[in-house]
Amino acid sequence: MLQWKIGDIKITQLIELTDASGALQVLPDATPENLDTIPWLKPNFVSPEGHLIMNIQMLIIETPDQKMVVDTCIGNDKALNMEGWSNMQLPFLDDLKKLGHDPDSVDKVICTHLHVDHVGWNTRKVAGKWVPTFPNARYVMVEKEFDFWQSLEEDPFGDVFGESVKPVVDAGLADMVGPDHQVAEGVSFESTPGHTPGHVSVHIKSQGEEAIISGDMMHHPCQIARPDWVTPFDADSPAACATRKQFLERYADKPVLVLGTHFANPVGGRIVRDGKTYRFDV
Ligand SMILES: [Zn+2]
Repeated sequence: MLQWKIGDIKITQLIELTDASGALQVLPDATPENLDTIPWLKPNFVSPEGHLIMNIQMLIIETPDQKMVVDTCIGNDKALNMEGWSNMQLPFLDDLKKLGHDPDSVDKVICTHLHVDHVGWNTRKVAGKWVPTFPNARYVMVEKEFDFWQSLEEDPFGDVFGESVKPVVDAGLADMVGPDHQVAEGVSFESTPGHTPGHVSVHIKSQGEEAIISGDMMHHPCQIARPDWVTPFDADSPAACATRKQFLERYADKPVLVLGTHFANPVGGRIVRDGKTYRFDV
């Protein structure tokens, strides 16, 4: 598991799954032929067969006085319309404990957005009921994002809202906030809408050092070189594309560590200009 230090804030990775099967179809433009035009993606981010390598991972942020987790992956026991993701039985919570973090010790659960692979471990199934995995935490989510999913008639992935969002709200643990919310000292949201209406990235700043956790504003480093490659899972692809281009422009050639929520190891790097576009410098 990788770890980064930003001033006196520590960020630790916990991987739930790594996929290099090419089965996810998350970026239809990312064909082996098109990926060959971006040679720096191999070997970390593209397999020898030309498939995208992607992590589903949670990031643990420890400031001097708070412990937070960002995006809780897919979860166990969920009834999902997604082959390989439904009814998973992975030792994710045991792995979290092995890192020295009991779920009871988490102060905040941060949701960049409310998609299936970002809210799963918000809850776990106990005696047939969904209960909060982190019972002492405040679950921080953007109000606009919550409203969108609450009013959606049907989520194609399954009852994600009912299994993984509503139970923490019903337990009184959710805080609905704005898209520029400061979560803790040195940790704040940065509005990055498009993939979903209330999508946010998480900005970390301490002692003059900075990092940003992307969420699904980008799914894969290939979108740093090709920001107009979109995913069919976007709520609004033109908006997602515009957000991504603004983000790349804002952080290019800056000493800011970008941590991609779905990026394969080494996960973090810096955006640098590369001719008319950008590259990920790891
Ligand atoms: Zn995702």
